Amino acid sequence: MQYIGVDIGGTNLRVGVVEKSKVIHEKRVLADFSHICQSNSPEIAWQKIIAITSQTLLDVLNEFPDCKAVGIGFPGFIDPQTASIMQSPNLPGLFDVDLVGGIRKLIHCPVFVENDALAASYGEYCLLKEANLISTNDSMIYIGLGTGVGGGFIHKGEVFSGEHGVAMEVGHIITYQGGRPCGCGNKGCLEQYASASGVSISYYESKKIQLTAQQIADLAFDGDSDALEAYENAGRALGMALAHIVKVIDVSDVVIGGGMSQAWSLFEGAFNDQLDRDLIPVLRGKVKCHVSTTFDQAGMIGAALFAEHKEKH
Ligand SMILES: [Zn+2]
Repeated sequence: MQYIGVDIGGTNLRVGVVEKSKVIHEKRVLADFSHICQSNSPEIAWQKIIAITSQTLLDVLNEFPDCKAVGIGFPGFIDPQTASIMQSPNLPGLFDVDLVGGIRKLIHCPVFVENDALAASYGEYCLLKEANLISTNDSMIYIGLGTGVGGGFIHKGEVFSGEHGVAMEVGHIITYQGGRPCGCGNKGCLEQYASASGVSISYYESKKIQLTAQQIADLAFDGDSDALEAYENAGRALGMALAHIVKVIDVSDVVIGGGMSQAWSLFEGAFNDQLDRDLIPVLRGKVKCHVSTTFDQAGMIGAALFAEHKEKH
């Protein structure tokens, strides 16, 4: 059985054909939806987003006509009842828009939408389950470390999206009171330390040199102590935030994903030390952290598996 998973990223639209939890075909289209939203009226921007997404889906469905359903991981808050997109912090001007309805008019295939981090969480959950690595109560927390920090909670095998589709906005947990300013309006949010941009800021603060997280990782692997410190700083913030999360939602399994997880060995030690220190003693040693093996494909795989789950229920 084949399902389509769509990952709407910063500058790319990625459409994957997923079979047995693997991407067997991927079509990538250069599409900067943020820029489209900034340079058009909301109505025109929305028409363009629907047109680009539908056309890409039609191209893929032409090649893979047996696909049963389409799942879309969308960077925004999705109303759990109506599936309409209420707001997207990365796509300014869009409020209460109907992605599923707009696309369904143009393609003849069931379409489902979920918040992108929650879709990735669901994908990671299914992969852990397949590998028999999940604890018996089928619950799990996902934290995606990319340009920002996203998260998801799977409760008894189901995506937990919360009352208003805003559950697990973990990137905005405040880890340092009065710390770095964040796009959300607060200061000291996890995202400002444990994301790729957070690592860049940490390195800039000590060396006054602007580098990408990848460049800093390369330096750290070569033994640069400031570069390593920037990653350890990310690890401490993440450990602190995760200890808070686990005290609220007592789970055994956590998956760390997103692009930054590829440099996990650089901040794993600082993360584990901080987590251990901040956890309630009874929980120490009982939280298993798995590093994602899907890296940048989790969004597509998760969206496709979410569509499969929805189509069958
Ligand atoms: Zn914030």
